[in-house]
Amino acid sequence: MTALAEFQRLSNRLLIGGEQRASRASTQFDVIDPATEDVVGKVADSTESEVEEAIRVANKAQKVWNKTNALTRAELLHEVSHLLRETRPVIAEMLTREMGKTYKESFDECTWAMSAIDYYAEVGRAEWGKVLGPATDGQFHYTIKDPLGVVVIILPFNYPLCLLCWEAAAALASGNAVIIKPSEMTSLVTMKFLEAFSAVLPPGVVQCVTGGGRVGGQLVASRDTHMIAFTGGIETGQKVAQACATDFKRCLIEASGNDPFIVMPSAPLDIAARGASFGAFINCGQVCAAAERFYVHEKVHDEFVERVVAEAKKVRIGNGLAKSDMGPLASRKERDRYEGIVARAVKEGARVVTGGGRPAGLNRGFFAECTVMTNVTPEMEIMNRESFGPVLPVCKVKNFDEAIALANRSRYGLGATIYTKDLEESMRAVNELEAGMVWVNAPLLDNDAGPFGGRKMSGMGRQLGAEGLDTFRHTKLAMIDPAASAHDFWWFPYKDSEMYQGKK
Ligand code: NAP
Repeated sequence: MTALAEFQRLSNRLLIGGEQRASRASTQFDVIDPATEDVVGKVADSTESEVEEAIRVANKAQKVWNKTNALTRAELLHEVSHLLRETRPVIAEMLTREMGKTYKESFDECTWAMSAIDYYAEVGRAEWGKVLGPATDGQFHYTIKDPLGVVVIILPFNYPLCLLCWEAAAALASGNAVIIKPSEMTSLVTMKFLEAFSAVLPPGVVQCVTGGGRVGGQLVASRDTHMIAFTGGIETGQKVAQACATDFKRCLIEASGNDPFIVMPSAPLDIAARGASFGAFINCGQVCAAAERFYVHEKVHDEFVERVVAEAKKVRIGNGLAKSDMGPLASRKERDRYEGIVARAVKEGARVVTGGGRPAGLNRGFFAECTVMTNVTPEMEIMNRESFGPVLPVCKVKNFDEAIALANRSRYGLGATIYTKDLEESMRAVNELEAGMVWVNAPLLDNDAGPFGGRKMSGMGRQLGAEGLDTFRHTKLAMIDPAASAHDFWWFPYKDSEMYQGKK
């Protein structure tokens, strides 16, 4: 089936209890291809009773899934990733048509998603606790890992499949059931993607209810969901965290970023400029860990700007299914928001060296030019707020200390990049930058085996790596006395010699 036919088939559908079915919702949202502005499908705003049903089913299914042994769970997860490999081309095409990123970026995202599934299939069966040195003779003291129960995964539009798997694979490998709430802008590709899960896993272990904030809010507020893995903007993340706090419900909050990118004189400027252009413009700048604030040493500022402008001009902008490096922003609303940030930066005194507007000849679709700005100062809004669009603002700095201080002068703390060949600067940057990930000459890289997540307002908790597995597990302490002996070393009656003897 073609991607467009798949959009029609999956319109208004939910995944509940292992079955895809039409929603009874009276409200539906249009799915708009951001490169053409064509309506390609409809997404249901699930009803309250559909959400309730998904929660009920998940609780039942989780009990069975939790009893499945770890090897079987691993084999099933590998089978899911194998199935996804076969459908990757159509999934990638759907992702491009639904949210705009280039086909290459969509295909890569599918690959990263599969890699996370395979990683957690194995890591999830590798270690279930540890044996402790006993504190009491003849006893056995150890910890075991328990699942949390029903995990709700609330997703943003920018990396809907990869983030789904970073969280769902870890949650499933730990014995949880999951309910996915995709962004309205990427629900149909998510429904397609989840077909591989429902084909392999027991019914109800993975479900999907579509809709807007109300659906997310209901899943968060329910007493019968046990953990919320949220990825999205700060304001929504705050609402989720506040609602979770009422019931001490565990939550993972992966929120917005405004990552710094430092360029020092020892950096190879040709490579730093290419890394900067990629870090700022990949996925049209809609990356939580995109490079958004550039601090460039005054000695190399002008040369770096010249080179990065040349790189920005090389980026081919167009429909993600054509020969292009950068697609449109995901929606009209996102482009309006982004254009407002650029316009306010100019009003505050920033100078647009290239870009700044909409690309010529692309009259339909939510395209924006790759924009490089100079004369940017640390106080400007653009250096203090996520832009989530293709803009590269450059601020000149006098030295390394100033660069680090400005990089840290932020309420965000997701990732941070530095380009330098100076060993001392590299080591100091890793130690001193207030971020979850520091990239030295290696912008925006991920590794399934290493934890990803932010500090400060960029969020709390970690995905990926061993830490990302424990995000979805309880640790339980077990203490066993096989002989069921009397514990006279501390039980009643206390010995006379242990009583207070008075002042000697
Ligand atoms: P968003 O507007 O905050 O939405 C995120 C998700 O939350 C969507 O599914 C949204 O539903 C849902 N939602 C809205 N209101 C809710 C509520 N009251 N309760 C529960 N869920 C609710 O974010 P976005 O615009 O989709 O994504 C962009 C943001 O995500 C950026 O700020 C980016 O930095 C961040 N992000 C962070 C990371 C990270 O790892 N730190 C990774 C990727 C993206 P609807 O949109 O369907 O209404």
